[in-house]
Amino acid sequence: MRESVPPPRSPGVEVAGATTRLAGLVGSPVSHSLSPRLHAAAYEALGLDWAYAAFEVAAEDLGAAVQGARALGFVGLSVTTPHKDQAAQLASRRSQTVRRLGAANTLTFEGRQVVADSTDGAGLIEELRDGLGFEPEGRRCAVIGAGGAARAAVLALAEAGAKEVLVVNRTPARAFRAAGLAGRAGRVARPEELDAADLVIQATPVGMLTAAGGANSDGEPPLPEGRDERAASRWPAGVDPSRFGSGQIVVDLVYDPAETPFLAEAGRCGATTRNGLGMLVHQAALQVARWAGVPAPLEVMRRAAGL
Ligand code: NAP
Repeated sequence: MRESVPPPRSPGVEVAGATTRLAGLVGSPVSHSLSPRLHAAAYEALGLDWAYAAFEVAAEDLGAAVQGARALGFVGLSVTTPHKDQAAQLASRRSQTVRRLGAANTLTFEGRQVVADSTDGAGLIEELRDGLGFEPEGRRCAVIGAGGAARAAVLALAEAGAKEVLVVNRTPARAFRAAGLAGRAGRVARPEELDAADLVIQATPVGMLTAAGGANSDGEPPLPEGRDERAASRWPAGVDPSRFGSGQIVVDLVYDPAETPFLAEAGRCGATTRNGLGMLVHQAALQVARWAGVPAPLEVMRRAAGL
């Protein structure tokens, strides 16, 4: 009997072939990640026979997942929450930025070596320059948060020559560690000191939608748009965005939703606002360039992100 013939593939669905090399994302959760779309668009534009997939990986399985990917000949892995610190630890080589941050968002397989890099901070600086025309050198900058993204922002802003990098965080001890990354420019600050900042980076997950369907990071329903009485007590680390105004740039690293209540309020009060999508594209473009050895097709990736 003849084998049944599989139905034709839907138009536009790409399937990896026998020569295809793989790359991917490891994290948890990853189901709503835009990274597969960004990377796939870039590989296609560059004519690379590569494919990229998102893998939900538990913390206790990260080592096995990374070694398995290396053994299978993967090009590299993007790393997201909550695995960035562990990814830095398990690498066999680390960039200077990874050594300073203690976190990595990019793993590259070079022979038997697992090389760790971090493209978050550089991605943010490229977005500031390219997307907002903002040059950090000599400027007063502030970061809300002290997690992986905040620390990458603090270090990158200091390295780009910021005059001041203020850090405000819910847990003061973590704020001190983050501010230390900026050397003499870094300082832990009170929320009201951000009034004088030229640039404010909101780097906490407050305002983020989750896969749970409309709940934000601490599990409560999203806040309605505009001013809201509940919001006042729920701004990240006590920073009230209604104190911001014209002449200030406020970037929220969250991009889902496209406009958090924090960003909406800052914009309503006259600040120039931007969500985290541009940074996401730039940090992914730097990963593509790292792996492919050629500049990433930035415009293609921006379009894939809907920008
Ligand atoms: P993380 O390492 O878990 O750090 C989270 C930080 O947010 C911590 O400093 C934490 O404060 C603070 N925080 C959490 N919940 C809070 C709350 N309810 N009120 C006040 N502060 C709170 O996370 P991360 O990896 O840095 O990511 C932070 C955000 O940036 C996420 O939304 C992530 O999606 C986004 N991100 C975006 C990009 C991009 O390309 N656009 C890249 C990386 C990350 P404590 O220290 O007090 O716990």
